[in-house]
Amino acid sequence: MDNYRILTEPVNGGMSGLAKASADWRRLAHNVESLARTAGVPMMAMVKADAYGHGMVPAARVAAEAGADRLGVVTLKEAWQLRQSAGLEAVPVMAFFFAPEQPGLAEVVGAGIDLGVSSLAQLEAAAAAGDRAGTPARIHLKGDTGMSRGGVAEHEWELAAEAAAKHQAAGSVVVAGAWSHLACADEIGHPANAAQKAAFERFLSAVSAAGLAPEVRHLANSAALISDPETRYDLVRPGIALYGYNPVPQFPVDLQPVVEVRSQVMSVKRLPAGSGISYGHTHILERDTNVALVPLGYADGIPRAASNKAEVYLAGKRRRVLGRICMDQFTVDCGDDPVKPGEPVVLIGAGEQHPDADDWAAWAGTIPNDVLTGLGARIPRLWNRGLD
Ligand SMILES: *Cc1c(COP(=O)(O)O)cnc(C)c1O
Repeated sequence: MDNYRILTEPVNGGMSGLAKASADWRRLAHNVESLARTAGVPMMAMVKADAYGHGMVPAARVAAEAGADRLGVVTLKEAWQLRQSAGLEAVPVMAFFFAPEQPGLAEVVGAGIDLGVSSLAQLEAAAAAGDRAGTPARIHLKGDTGMSRGGVAEHEWELAAEAAAKHQAAGSVVVAGAWSHLACADEIGHPANAAQKAAFERFLSAVSAAGLAPEVRHLANSAALISDPETRYDLVRPGIALYGYNPVPQFPVDLQPVVEVRSQVMSVKRLPAGSGISYGHTHILERDTNVALVPLGYADGIPRAASNKAEVYLAGKRRRVLGRICMDQFTVDCGDDPVKPGEPVVLIGAGEQHPDADDWAAWAGTIPNDVLTGLGARIPRLWNRGLD
């Protein structure tokens, strides 16, 4: 993967801006290869939501180069952008959010973008778009197998499969896939997993009973891909694991965090015991302390819920965040250490002592997906230079 420009600086490299995020694309490529080996079937790399905050186009290029067979996004706009990007024109892309009256649907179909179809109304819209485009819409029929979110409800499976078969016979659609999504894949042994797998089999039976034989059947997200071979079928759809985080750590896979987020100390001051720190004075200093100010806050995606709990890596060790994380800044306990302005601060890193997105998720009571996708637009993504 030496052809990808790696724009990272060492911890003590002296940053010019106040903060930055950097990605090591070799780690993304490594994760794609590692997950492909584990799965043993083709992969749709989920690069929705700006590739979980990593930058959709560069991440998609790296994933495709490393062997991902397809790309998955949510919106038509994301799919369109991938389709227009150099090197990705021929990689199959699936998007699955669209309104029945969605403008531009025929253009999307004409561009060969696969549509995930979750309702009879979407099926009709896709077929009409295929007719307008003069080429059949490639659709992946989604059955709701128990997530109770997207997907055709079980009582309409037969109807939807028969309608899709009719549109396929008329040349308006090609049923390229049959798929569903799991609600509890990260909870090993949760009864919903067995129930959803059984329901998916019933869905596939309804699809084939209508005379359809889709190219791919797909069910597994990262957690299912890693923990349950029965969910892998013809295609797996990992998201978070591509970016280095394993939602089922009891099933070890060789994954490396891709993104690192660094900032620097903007100022330091010695404050006396008894000082109340930040909004609400939720922390009161017990002793005289050197308090460092870091210029990132919840507007940058640093979770406010991690106030008084999070730690950052600063001047050789982990140090605790004091008081509330504000919109643009937070403070760190530096004890009696003579920390200087400009000292690098690692918020998310890949080093042994560095906090990572799993740590932030634990401090904030959320999941690393939420932490990574939340990284704000003010944090420069240096790796985009030269890659898109
Ligand atoms: C986001 C998404 C995934 C990936 O989920 P992870 O848990 O991040 O692996 C898979 N399938 C669909 C339909 C998704 O929307």
